[in-house]
Parts: sequence; C-alpha cells; structure tokens
Amino acid sequence: MGERGFPKFRASQILDWVYDKFVVDISQMSNLPDGLKKVLASELSWEMPTVSTEQKADDGSLKVALELADKGIIESVLITAAHRMTLCVSTQVGCKMGCKFCATGKLGFVRDLTSAEIVAQIFWAAKTCQEQGKRLSNLVYMGMGEPLDNYDATLFSVRMAKKFFGLGAKRIVVSTCGLPAGILKLANDEPNLKLAISLHSAVEKQRRELMPMAEKHSLPELKKALFTFAKNSPFKITFEYILIPNINMDKTSARALISYLGDLPAKINFISYNKVDGLDFVSPNEKEIAKFCANFACTSLRFTLRNSQGSGVQAACGQLAGSKRTKK
Ligand code: SF4
Repeated sequence: MGERGFPKFRASQILDWVYDKFVVDISQMSNLPDGLKKVLASELSWEMPTVSTEQKADDGSLKVALELADKGIIESVLITAAHRMTLCVSTQVGCKMGCKFCATGKLGFVRDLTSAEIVAQIFWAAKTCQEQGKRLSNLVYMGMGEPLDNYDATLFSVRMAKKFFGLGAKRIVVSTCGLPAGILKLANDEPNLKLAISLHSAVEKQRRELMPMAEKHSLPELKKALFTFAKNSPFKITFEYILIPNINMDKTSARALISYLGDLPAKINFISYNKVDGLDFVSPNEKEIAKFCANFACTSLRFTLRNSQGSGVQAACGQLAGSKRTKK
C-alpha cells in the first residue's frame, strides 16, 4: 500500500474483507476508495475455483469438487466430527506416486496446484463453516496429491493457514507417503506442525508392491529423515496404516511394524480400507481387525482405529479422484 501511495491501514482493511468477511468481490469492499479498488482489480487476480459439485455424506462430511481455471477438477472434503470442522485439502491434480490402493493414484499426475489454489480450498472451507455458524478448526493435507512433491506451494499454504485462518500448529497435519528429502526440508523450514506418514507396511517388499515410490526410498532412509524431523518438532509422528486383508494384516506385518516404530516418537492410525471402484482390494471385517490389533496389545505403541469419514460419497481416505458427480 505504501509503495502505491495508500496509507498502510488499507492493507488491514483488505485482509479483513478477504480473510474475516470472505469477500473477494472488490465492488463490495465498501470502505475502500475507488482509486484503490482500480489498483486491486488491475494488479491482482481475484479468480477463485468454482464449486462444480457438492455431496453430503450421512455422517455430515461435505465433499466439494472445485473446477480450476484450466478446467482441472480437485476435491476437498470438510469433515464434521464432534466439535471439529476439518478440511482435507488437495495439493495436486492427480498424483505421481501411484499407490495401488488409491483412487487418486489411479488417475496419474496432471499438475501441481499453485499455492493460491491450495489456499482457495481453505478459503472455501472457512467460508462454508462461517455460513453454518462454525469455525474451521483443523486442516489435514490428505486429499489428492503428495504434498511434499509440491513442496513450496504446500509450505506457503501452511503458513497462510497459520497466519490468516487462525489455525495453530497442532491443528495442521501434513501427510506424506514418505519422501525423505521433503521431510528433511520440512524439519528445517516448518517443523511446528504435525507430520503423518502413509506407511501401510513396514515390510520393504510388501511396501514396494503397495507403494511404487518406495522403490526409490527405502524404509531405513525414511526412518533417518523421521528421526531428524522428530528432533525438531514438538509433536509425535502419526503413522497411517490402511488395513487390507491378505496384504498387510498378518503376524509378520504386525511384527515388522512394531520393530520399525519401536524407537520413534510415534502413534499409529489403523484405517479400515475403503473400497475403491475398479480396484481388487477388499475391506476387512471386524474379526480380522480385532485379530490384527491384538498384536499390539502388549507393546508400548499407541494406536487408534480410525473411522474414515465420508465413505458414503467416496470422500474417505484414498477415495478422492476428481470425478464429476451430481449435486445433491
Ligand atoms: Fe498419491 Fe497419497 Fe494416493 Fe499415494 S495415497 S497415490 S501419495 S494421493
């Protein structure tokens, strides 16, 4: 503002319109002079992704498909649970990592999202929460794409979430399939957030079969990066482990997991596999889950059995695929 000859308080007024009132239509910014409105219109892009479809699941989760300027589609999910409103945000159109159990992985990679496109998802969620008389309370980078493969835009959006959307460090989770270089960078740049690792197997061969990216990044290399992150971060690292019968739920898999995580500040989320159309994996039944979890009863590892919300609208873990669906 100063450089353009306007008083500096105008900056606070603009930020207030955008991040408190969720107004991006310059004509509605009633306390700004016309000269400033013209500058804003000519020097900045105000284009926002448009809501293509919205679907509400029985559990209250709201999945939105957002259409980008180039017609690419991304999906975000606003999850309602108890007192929390959590946004699951996407960082790429598609994904390069090719995890065998994941709908996004099946799509292949189209492109990285810009930082603005990631922040626009947070904006949509915060605005939607406000319209419901609520506040966006949590942000998880678990939507389409690998956040650390789009590192700069992800980091920028994390910092925006902290600064302008009032989300504290313990309310932001960046989830990665385990890219050691990205984890080391994050340990240096922004360790004050929660890190989640999509592990899904601690048996090297099994993990490589499930997650092709693991061919390039071994479990020991990942663990080394995690020790560095853990040293810099105040939080325990969460390990996501999707339970898939006949794949990673046998005794050997359980033992490998206990041994791999034993000396890390870790907690585990076991997630029942959500069926994805066109993939052969099946969901476990209660008996299979109980049998697998029993392996951890006498260990010091803390685990929770996570209820993946949104499966009714294909919005649960691993189900986002940018498909167009009809508005409910
Ligand atoms: Fe990409 Fe995550 Fe899906 Fe793996 S699980 S293909 S990293 S979106």
